[in-house]
Amino acid sequence: MALRKKQKLEIERIIKERRAKIAAELQHDVEKAREEQYPELAGAPVTDTGDQASADLLSDLDNAELSRDLLELRELDAALARVAGRKYGTCVDCGGDIGFERLSASPTAVRCFHCQRVHEKTFFHPSEPKL
Ligand SMILES: [Zn+2]
Repeated sequence: MALRKKQKLEIERIIKERRAKIAAELQHDVEKAREEQYPELAGAPVTDTGDQASADLLSDLDNAELSRDLLELRELDAALARVAGRKYGTCVDCGGDIGFERLSASPTAVRCFHCQRVHEKTFFHPSEPKL
């Protein structure tokens, strides 16, 4: 059974909340990384976190934590776009339902629990949620 409209709205809310939290973290980390790597820029305002311009800035700042946050931000954006469509909540491998419970914990999940485990045994994807 596909997700009900109410459940989609709930997932959408979860994604937006998580996105806002990560964007704030990213902002904080960018400021910190800039102070460490470009002390002369310290105190300069960081604007437009999460867009392409700051993505370029972030790729300049060689920082694993930033890359992780940025990747998650992009995954959340992609999930948000998928929620609007019909395929959200459908496993890309078996076509079954991922399930509201799993999606509310891992809104970026594209596989059901079973297929995710099979996938992780076959490929190693450290960025994918482990749930
Ligand atoms: Zn599946």
